[in-house]
Amino acid sequence: MTKKEEPPLSRVPRAVRVASLLSEGEELSGDDLGDEDEDDPAYEGLPNSGWHAGSLSLRLLSSPPGPELLPHPMDGLPRGPTPRTPVIKAGWLDKNPPQGSYIYQKRWVRLDADYLQYFDSSKDAYSKRFVSVACISRVAAIGEQKFEVITNNRTFAFRAESDVERKEWMQALQQAVAEQRARARLSGVRGPEPPDHAGSLELRGFKSKLHVTVAGDRVQLYKNLEEYHLGIGITFIDMSVGNVKDADRRGFDLTTPYRIFSFSAESELEKEQWLEAMQGAIAEALSTLEVAERIWAAAPNRLCADCGAAQPDWASINLCVVICKCCAGEHRGLGAGISKVRSLKMDRKVWTETLIELFLQLGNAAGNRFWAANVPPSEALQPSSSPGARRRHLEAKYREGKYRRYHPLFGNQEELDKALCAAVTTSDLAETQALLGCGAGVGCFSGDPEASTPLALAEQAGQTLQMEFLRNNRTTEVPRLDSTKALEKHYSVVLPTVSHCGFLYKTASAGKVLQDRRAREEFSRRWCVLSDGVLSYYENERTVTPNGEIRASEIVCLAVPPPDTHGFEHTFEVYTEGERLYLFGLESADLAREWVKCIAKAFVPPLAEELLARDFQRLGRLPYKAGLSLQRAQEGWFSLAGSELHAIFPEGSREEPLQLRKLQELSIQGDGENQVLVLVERRRTLYIQGERRLDFTGWLGAIQKAAASSGDTLSEQQLGDSDIPVIVYRCVDYITQCGLTSEGIYRKCGQTSKTQRLLESLRQDARSVHLKEGEQHVDDVSSALKRFLRDLPDGLFTRAQRLTWLEASEIEDEEKKIAKYRELLAYLPPVNRATVKALISHLYCVQCFSDTNQMNTHNLAIVFGPTLFQTDGQDYKAGRVVEDLIGHYVVVFSVDEEELRKQREEITAIVKMRVAGAASGTQHAGDFICTVYLEEKKAETEQHVKIPASMTAEELTLEILDRRNVGVREKDYWTCFEVNEKEEAERPLHFAEKVLPILHGLGTDSCLVVKRHQSMEAMLLYLASRVGDTKHGMMKFREDRSLLGLGLPSGGFHDRYFILNSSCLRLYKEVRNQRPWSGAPETSHRPEKEWPVKSLKVYLGVKKKLRPPTCWGFTVVHETEKHEKQQWYLCCDTQMELREWFATFLFVQHDGLVWPSEPSRVSRAVPEARLGSVSLIPLRGSENEMRRSVAAFTADPLSLLRNV
Ligand SMILES: [Zn+2]
Repeated sequence: MTKKEEPPLSRVPRAVRVASLLSEGEELSGDDLGDEDEDDPAYEGLPNSGWHAGSLSLRLLSSPPGPELLPHPMDGLPRGPTPRTPVIKAGWLDKNPPQGSYIYQKRWVRLDADYLQYFDSSKDAYSKRFVSVACISRVAAIGEQKFEVITNNRTFAFRAESDVERKEWMQALQQAVAEQRARARLSGVRGPEPPDHAGSLELRGFKSKLHVTVAGDRVQLYKNLEEYHLGIGITFIDMSVGNVKDADRRGFDLTTPYRIFSFSAESELEKEQWLEAMQGAIAEALSTLEVAERIWAAAPNRLCADCGAAQPDWASINLCVVICKCCAGEHRGLGAGISKVRSLKMDRKVWTETLIELFLQLGNAAGNRFWAANVPPSEALQPSSSPGARRRHLEAKYREGKYRRYHPLFGNQEELDKALCAAVTTSDLAETQALLGCGAGVGCFSGDPEASTPLALAEQAGQTLQMEFLRNNRTTEVPRLDSTKALEKHYSVVLPTVSHCGFLYKTASAGKVLQDRRAREEFSRRWCVLSDGVLSYYENERTVTPNGEIRASEIVCLAVPPPDTHGFEHTFEVYTEGERLYLFGLESADLAREWVKCIAKAFVPPLAEELLARDFQRLGRLPYKAGLSLQRAQEGWFSLAGSELHAIFPEGSREEPLQLRKLQELSIQGDGENQVLVLVERRRTLYIQGERRLDFTGWLGAIQKAAASSGDTLSEQQLGDSDIPVIVYRCVDYITQCGLTSEGIYRKCGQTSKTQRLLESLRQDARSVHLKEGEQHVDDVSSALKRFLRDLPDGLFTRAQRLTWLEASEIEDEEKKIAKYRELLAYLPPVNRATVKALISHLYCVQCFSDTNQMNTHNLAIVFGPTLFQTDGQDYKAGRVVEDLIGHYVVVFSVDEEELRKQREEITAIVKMRVAGAASGTQHAGDFICTVYLEEKKAETEQHVKIPASMTAEELTLEILDRRNVGVREKDYWTCFEVNEKEEAERPLHFAEKVLPILHGLGTDSCLVVKRHQSMEAMLLYLASRVGDTKHGMMKFREDRSLLGLGLPSGGFHDRYFILNSSCLRLYKEVRNQRPWSGAPETSHRPEKEWPVKSLKVYLGVKKKLRPPTCWGFTVVHETEKHEKQQWYLCCDTQMELREWFATFLFVQHDGLVWPSEPSRVSRAVPEARLGSVSLIPLRGSENEMRRSVAAFTADPLSLLRNV
């Protein structure tokens, strides 16, 4: 290794000036950058380009320092920028040799908070190598005073002079690494910021190209891109001393006082880009100096306004004073309402020309003439004053205004305001400062409607400096002597601009939703300041540089977990766009609420401000689709308060909050990456998209929780459509479907453990519990319902009214008693009233089956009296109320005929389908999912539909057509067919038929297919043209005896005579006197068979195995009262015949209404009405179909719904 001769200092122009720009301990050196590499013997290091004094064209050097630039007499130090990061440790160490060599090399090693660097000598400006502290994974001792610095994939070994020396180095390194990690955790920033410009450049004398980055005010040299990613570089060049110059075609020079770097770019174009980037870095480097230098141009600004320390590089922009770092920390502690602290060097954007000018005019001179007019020598600060003394002094000076020069008008608000209005129109800034500091109102009314505020007056007068000063003091608090209590209270009043500060306890930010409790120890106390749309957190209230910041504009969600979720009683979470989650904690509920309010105000736009009016658990913005804007997702503002989800949509009308406990559907669609939360309320559907994983997951959990029961009272339960708790509905529905005929239903007890488990899951999320026959015994379900009702904290009849109900049962006059019940019923809360009605209606049904279940009204009353009134069973009155309510169900609850009839039909259907569908295995209480095919049964035509109890065949048909986007044309008689493959027969369902009972009766051989009813037109024509409503005629008949279980051959088809009228179908073996078609044929014999027409199911088709004599046959199924199935086959001679018979069947079975009138179809086609009741996505089916649908849904959830 060669060492270049050091240039004599005298040859360097203004050498002293230049030297002062160096970091401490450094002197000017013309030394090489290095010529070694520990890993690559071929690496030659930086060449000896030497010192070219003649090519220096440093801007700083070119202008002779003016008088203000001379060191201030008080400085005692050469002026210049303080090093960006102080050196933690520096010294000589032996570095392990490169491969193949045994000689240790002496290196000057220097460690600061960010880098470990080593140099050839202590005088070198540019390192041979630097290692980013962030990339150091471990520091370990190895033998003989040696230690290793281990990075991801490289190890640097050093040898110290002594063990003590080694220990010091290792400790310093380990501490630097630990602090670096802590900083990274706090700030949530990973890795270095992306450079402004980067790429490969040739450096003269180098074999291989270097990877060079321009970041901020630095140019950094790396051997290659890989090393850049590893955080290991050669050196970095501070551009505050740099200058760039175009050399030749692709070449350019970066000149510094210590070295000239001659680069060559790939192309001329690239060279231009490099020049621009490096010039930008120089501008940036100089601008940081520029502000300080310009402000220091006024001599008083060169000493801290408070303690007199030299080179103050901080300022309070509202007080308009320049202060040192120590005082700046204390200023920060006063709160932004007193002092707005900014750095002269770092807060570049703050320093506008106007503000700098203001500091030159006011600054420390004017500031202290006012604020420090009367400082007793004993209370004055020194640069060496203790933090405590500093704090006391600054509190007194700025918060209390203790030392200020009192304005003659002090105490006379009106006069002060008037004087302020006058002053701001002049250039007398000191007067304005004095007036504001003595209590003049910065926002006072000037009396001039044209320019109503001092700011407006200043503007009118063209006083830009006055304007700047007023603006910076818009939120400044007037000093008050009585504000001593505020010493403890480290937060200021909430101001319109939202600023807030105080201590918060903070955990390291997280990348996922917090699942478990964060212990108190995991929180660190931080001084937090919310100001100018930034929430900054500091080590303590005196620190000037924040540990980290959260920009309000990046906050996407603010959540308030329930008290005591974590080690701190009160906590709140802040979610950012960058998918980080910050958890803050406080002891005091009030302080926590205040913080939440302020942060919310800081990030919620005015349009969504009303969301702040409520106490929310969660607030933020989310992409959504809803209402009329379904085409594309938009960002909306949401808040979750209790079980209500409030939403503010940028477009569209005011929305009612969604009642989460009353949702019909709450589901997550899509896969891990593209999740959509679907919320279906009765008449609207909301899709919330999981664009950002972190806050979406948080919302999901919170919404699911809010949609669940929040407590044990009735109204806190998940509620169904008619305000009946889902838990009650689920049980009642299940008993209705499976337990009406169960002996001793509600009297028998279920298994305690099963009942308990069931009730627990129902309480947790009743909506998701689907009771299935075979899995749940009816007695377990009935016991769970009874237990739920008995355990209701307030009881079904409420504590307040319970006695009145019991008393009412003693009224002797039956009519008066009923009237009293009705009156009391009206007093019940809505949810209780709805539940009482639903329950009594159910018990009314139960007692209808008392023949089989043995539970008559009286027995039910004995069971339910004590349960509902929560009595011990001794009080007979409770039972009597229940007995009365069941007995007078129709009157008490004003149940009309129609309602009652429907109820009976429903029960009949349920009982029927229980028998019919016992084997189907698909039934469970609640929602039924059915597979329906379009046109024919095959995988591609499958659709899965949720079938509500009320759904008719027509509704189902239209549903399928809608989904498949099939337009309904005139004379397309789309009908839902029940197709029985085994019987080779199909039955077009009547449009008004309820689907659910049919679904229950479907065997495994049957399915539902929606297709055109080809004969419907002909049938309608026939029905319209015929006379009378009966039909007679010969048909070929065959009885299926196999169903009787005899296994006998059933013989062939035989001619039989049939008569079909409005009540029954009759079969005659022989026709005696067949008369003309004028009336009933004269038959002397009784019919051989007779069936009630309404209980017949007529299927088109006869299975071929039976060898039907014609292809115009149909199958008739009759179910007896004892639920025995009988089956016959009938064949006609012509298709016309068949249609006529079939049409007549339809006609008589459905009272003449064979096809719906048009209007019913039209009204059905309103999309809005469907959104709520439709299953949005197939919930069962082939995997492919599911996948396809999910994919389609994810791409556009509406596509499944839109086809109207
Ligand atoms: Zn100071």
